[in-house]
Amino acid sequence: MDPTLLDDLLDWLRIPSISTGGGHPADLERAAAFVVERVTAAGGEADVVATTGNPLAVGELRAARPDAPTVLIYGHYDVQSVGDLTAWTTPPFEPDIRDGRIYARGSSDDKGNFLPLLHVACAMASDGGLPVNVRVLVEGEEESDGEAVADWVRTDERGADAAIVFDSGMIDEATPAITVGLRGIVQLNLTVRTAERDLHSGVYGGSTLNALHSLHAMLAAVMPDARGRLRDELRAGIEAPSEKELASWATLTPGDRLIAEAGGRPLYPGAGAEYYLRNGADASLDGLEGVLSERTEGNPFFLE
Ligand SMILES: [Zn+2]
Repeated sequence: MDPTLLDDLLDWLRIPSISTGGGHPADLERAAAFVVERVTAAGGEADVVATTGNPLAVGELRAARPDAPTVLIYGHYDVQSVGDLTAWTTPPFEPDIRDGRIYARGSSDDKGNFLPLLHVACAMASDGGLPVNVRVLVEGEEESDGEAVADWVRTDERGADAAIVFDSGMIDEATPAITVGLRGIVQLNLTVRTAERDLHSGVYGGSTLNALHSLHAMLAAVMPDARGRLRDELRAGIEAPSEKELASWATLTPGDRLIAEAGGRPLYPGAGAEYYLRNGADASLDGLEGVLSERTEGNPFFLE
């Protein structure tokens, strides 16, 4: 790795730009300013843009040709809180290089991912050889589900001809990947109430509507079938993968092995062999988290 780029990355990683609690606004601002400084040093224009949440770093590097298309490059400078500090071999904001890997909060997600992209754009702009206009957009609320960047994109009437998002993964260490689409997500917390107050199961069980039973019945109607397939209404709009896509997936690590390495078990016999089809080109209903509590006011059961 270019030593200048590595030093630059380590400097960025030292800024504890935590957005998920326990962070400081000054550090978030500093991490955004880091981006702005690099764009302006390369001859571009850039600003730290205040939002109702954490600031954005927004910049523009101009192409050599005035009529060139515009490519938006996106990244996020915020990181998650560090969690249990004793689980870290070295402190999360003191980057450490061990066996060729950088250990620090944000070293891959997303400072380490994004910085090479920014560097290449800045280097090409400095040389006067940038073939496209590059709009730089780096947010500070990706980890905390903030809306500031989406609001900014919606209100920016200039738009862009393409966007490059360096915030996704590789297949494995040796296999780079380009993500061309995502499945999307609908997320909800569901609370079911069936009584005005806590009711004792010894007195009311068996005669009185119970939230747990109602919730089970509701979920049963949308749960995947025995083979793990969702009902047709929930799979509307799915496009079958092309022969070319299927052939390329066949060259990747077999799904059964991927699932086993993650400590999981196939949903049903044969589901592992369909891993890429199921996870890459089908719908799923997942992540249901049942929390049963008797202390919630007014509810015999509370599940979410
Ligand atoms: Zn990320």
